[in-house]
Amino acid sequence: AKGPYDDENVFAKILRGEIPSTEVYSDEHAYAFVDINPQAPTHVLVIPRGRYRSWVDFTESAEDAEIAGFIRAVGKVAKSLDVEDPGYRLLVNSGRHAHQMVPHLHVHLFAGRPLGPMLS
Ligand code: 5GP
Repeated sequence: AKGPYDDENVFAKILRGEIPSTEVYSDEHAYAFVDINPQAPTHVLVIPRGRYRSWVDFTESAEDAEIAGFIRAVGKVAKSLDVEDPGYRLLVNSGRHAHQMVPHLHVHLFAGRPLGPMLS
């Protein structure tokens, strides 16, 4: 996910309220919503409110408070969904080989069924 941030990406539009989404969690640094094409009974996306394409972009550019706030928000989402037992998976796709489709950093949270081996 290189190049400038694209303000017209779908998650930027969701953050601006231009595209509807089903909110799961919201705070100063993070927004979480239900994936439109769920791959598990629970499939939530957690995104930073800042304009970051990728994990590298985020960790290089964001303030420490923003990074801490975002990572903590992912934990709050997992806790609020009550998925710690029997478990859940967090996943970040970055770039073409990982099939990153939306160029705004997002953490997938999958839960609600046995998730199988990590890679396919
Ligand atoms: P990626 O492949 O980039 O890691 O994942 C992008 C995710 O965003 C996919 O799981 C896809 O279903 C989801 N997605 C794409 N467009 C929308 C949308 O407009 N609304 C929601 N809620 N999810 C979306």
